[in-house]
Amino acid sequence: MRIWTRMMVLAAALAAAPVSAAPAFITLGTMGGPIADPHRSQPANLIVDGSDAWLVDCGDGTVEQLAKAGIRLPQVKALFLSHLHFDHTGGVAALLGLRYQTNVPGRLAIYGPPGTRAMVDGLLASMAPAAAAGYGLPGEPQADPAAMVEVTEIASGSVVRIGAATVTAAQNSHYSFAPGSDADRRFKSLAFRFDLPGRSIAYTGDTGPSAAVAALARGVDLLVSELIDVDATVANVRRNTPDMPAPAIAALTRHLSGHHLTAAQVGELAVRAGAKQLVVTHLVAPGATPAALDAIEAQIAAAYKGSIVIAQDLQRF
Ligand SMILES: [Zn+2]
Ligand SMILES: [Zn+2]
Repeated sequence: MRIWTRMMVLAAALAAAPVSAAPAFITLGTMGGPIADPHRSQPANLIVDGSDAWLVDCGDGTVEQLAKAGIRLPQVKALFLSHLHFDHTGGVAALLGLRYQTNVPGRLAIYGPPGTRAMVDGLLASMAPAAAAGYGLPGEPQADPAAMVEVTEIASGSVVRIGAATVTAAQNSHYSFAPGSDADRRFKSLAFRFDLPGRSIAYTGDTGPSAAVAALARGVDLLVSELIDVDATVANVRRNTPDMPAPAIAALTRHLSGHHLTAAQVGELAVRAGAKQLVVTHLVAPGATPAALDAIEAQIAAAYKGSIVIAQDLQRF
């Protein structure tokens, strides 16, 4: 899709946003990886179903992106974390702190892999001094920050029922610890499938090629996939660190190829899943020009013949 077409699609999507009643997927932040980008916010997404909204990953800048999307914090009832890399969790501190500071009622349901409880406990502990100070008025009652969250750790095969949705998790291949090993038990990266009234959406999270993700996404209306341009990423690293030894570059390339999806692999996944529509987010493609994005789309389209959109921030599907 050419750039002007992309911009028209984006404008149309934003214009249509407030009146859509069907469950929608909004790309709040489409950047992939830990390098901040001036044009794309860190990984975060939102599923909106009626008056409910659920975050799917929560990178730095998520609360600003929610505001740009016209979503108020009380609407956000749950957070699903695919894994605990900081680019996917950097916005959780602000989400919790601003909810606390504005007395958002009810508990935020947080679902994530093993380690999520420890991460949230740490963030709650970090809130103690500001919670004790309150608004700075003597004798103010103090609410317990821990009372505003409900953490549930999930793993492959977990099923969560929330609102009108059924959410299923599957372990993907973003981590390659030996199955059954201590590290495999302690650290998991998840993909999610959201079965909503009249619509199904699968979210790969960060993953390499994965039969489990393809099975999870079987027949979905919308597949939301990550993508990496390995060559561009390696070139970017070489620019940053020109003296990096060849074995280190080789190891990095192996990691990037095994733990993420190339354009061709995204196309293969969409075909294997039989997805009706494909949206690419979590774009690890440093400095990608419109022509480079068109080339990525063409590589996906070599295998997958359905609708493909390389998403921008705040696009609604
Ligand atoms: Zn990531
Ligand atoms: Zn990651």
